[in-house]
Amino acid sequence: MILTSKYNIGDVIYEIASRSHRMDVECPECNGKSANTSESWAKCQKCNNAGTVVKYSPRVWTPTQCVLTVGMIKCEVGYKDKVEYMCNETGIGSGRLYNEEEIYSSMNDAIAECYKRNKEGTELTASLHRTIDKILEGMR
Ligand SMILES: [Zn+2]
Repeated sequence: MILTSKYNIGDVIYEIASRSHRMDVECPECNGKSANTSESWAKCQKCNNAGTVVKYSPRVWTPTQCVLTVGMIKCEVGYKDKVEYMCNETGIGSGRLYNEEEIYSSMNDAIAECYKRNKEGTELTASLHRTIDKILEGMR
């Protein structure tokens, strides 16, 4: 078998990854009211009068938002056929390996793939989908 790589040395690529995201959500204790009033509210113990609390989303696909340039290509044949890349920005020889199945040639393609993969994740709620879509839109 002859493996060929989709990308070449010097190509710019965009990685996507499945990660948890930090989200500021309305405080469930004061419903965000403690931040928006000049009245002397008792201090909200939950949010410290910030009106929001930090929550982490389940893992979702998003681009990692750094431009990468292919500096090394690694093709593995025989055990588990795969093509991986090392990039100038993260180190050649030692550094991160990028799986071909998780990289794209443009940010738009990377975002489109994230939309697709996140739709397949049925555990996401509608409101989380909206939040993640907003993050993806902001990356265009
Ligand atoms: Zn609160």
